[in-house]
Amino acid sequence: MSFDSLGLDTEILKAVQDQQFQNPTPIQEQAIPLILAGKDLMASAQTGTGKTAGFSLPILQKLVNLQTDKQKEFKQGKRPLYALILAPTRELAAQIWENIRDYSRYLSVRSLVAFGGVSINPQMMKLRGGVDILVATPGRLLDLVQKNAVDLSTVKILVLDEADRMLDMGFIHDIRRVIAKLPKKRQNLLFSATFSDEIKQLSKSILTSPEVVAVARTNSTSEQITQYVHRVDKSRKRELLSYLIGRDQWRQVLIFTRTKYGANHLADQLNKDGIKAAAIHGNKSQGARTKALADFKSGEITALVATDIAARGLDIELLPFVVNYELPQVAEDYVHRIGRTGRAQNHGQAISLVSIDELPQLKAIERLVKAKIPELTTDGFAVNPNIKPTVSDQKLRIKRGGRGGKNSVVKSNKTPKPTNRSAKSQKIN
Ligand code: ADP
Ligand code: MG
Repeated sequence: MSFDSLGLDTEILKAVQDQQFQNPTPIQEQAIPLILAGKDLMASAQTGTGKTAGFSLPILQKLVNLQTDKQKEFKQGKRPLYALILAPTRELAAQIWENIRDYSRYLSVRSLVAFGGVSINPQMMKLRGGVDILVATPGRLLDLVQKNAVDLSTVKILVLDEADRMLDMGFIHDIRRVIAKLPKKRQNLLFSATFSDEIKQLSKSILTSPEVVAVARTNSTSEQITQYVHRVDKSRKRELLSYLIGRDQWRQVLIFTRTKYGANHLADQLNKDGIKAAAIHGNKSQGARTKALADFKSGEITALVATDIAARGLDIELLPFVVNYELPQVAEDYVHRIGRTGRAQNHGQAISLVSIDELPQLKAIERLVKAKIPELTTDGFAVNPNIKPTVSDQKLRIKRGGRGGKNSVVKSNKTPKPTNRSAKSQKIN
């Protein structure tokens, strides 16, 4: 199928051509006609499958149609807010907006992105001038609403992008408060990488007889991503990481840590090892985050160390390597993390450095992705069979409780089998 057959205007098609997209992705092929037809939509597809264009292109098309119908009003400069797009993080909101700007370059469309951490005044000024499409994080949007800077009563289309993440981040109340300000009659589009029970619940309360589009298995990891587990002693993770980056000459690697502190600390240590690195997380100023991301994209820095929340939804083209320096607490975050690589047509590698105390998390991840992740070893980095999980690790797990909490402690108390010590190190590139 080609883009030409989707019923999009030539100005939009030209902008798509500028992006050098050959054909619509499966999610675009399915979502675009449904959105054009005015349906509510609940769509799930792996990360990197082009969901952004999947909703942006038909929204632009519908806006063009409306402008044609109401030429007089538009000529008079009236710009009632037409589409509201909510995203969980500043980076993601900025990225969606950049895409919309690209796709609307030949149209007369005004769009704005609004997120916290930067001054609200310029955002208020632009809103006063009238915008057609607003991309926002929930918190800042509510601030703008409170300041009467934005009128949501004209919104015709609501998009919730990365809806699962918004729930994880506790935005549910904010989202509901926003929705209360919207007209009852509107089109709702919900995008999510996974369909959890909470998402299904949310969609029931927001969407009206939605079409459900799911591309590929839900909760599955992209097949274009080669995944490995590298067992290693906790105290030697940094050493191993620096070694791998150096030995295989990785140019661009996104590394996940669990905490903001861990991200800063690791970035410092990598810099000391001579690897240009920066950290990106919620405590950093917007300026610092933007700069780190830009430096990373331009190749100025080799390693970007991020927390889950900061990295969510980042689209970094051709990202070849993702490293889980620490496994995520929530298994589903694993799927999101490794979705940062192998985007669109490209292949990527995701390597998880797993210490003994993380084996229960690894098990949960393998259960979720329904696969055993192959192991990688490196000469000189075999795990020390005498190291057992520390008492604090065990306490942590017992406290966390939940499914098999106790079992996992018993299990990880066993002496681990030394991993294939004699095995030749596999070169990864
Ligand atoms: P998702 O939201 O599903 O994770 P994105 O919308 O961020 O994915 O898109 C991922 C990447 O794929 C982006 O770099 C985007 O430019 C690219 N892309 C989108 N649509 C197409 C297409 N039809 N053909 C090729 N690349 C595409
Ligand atoms: Mg997306």
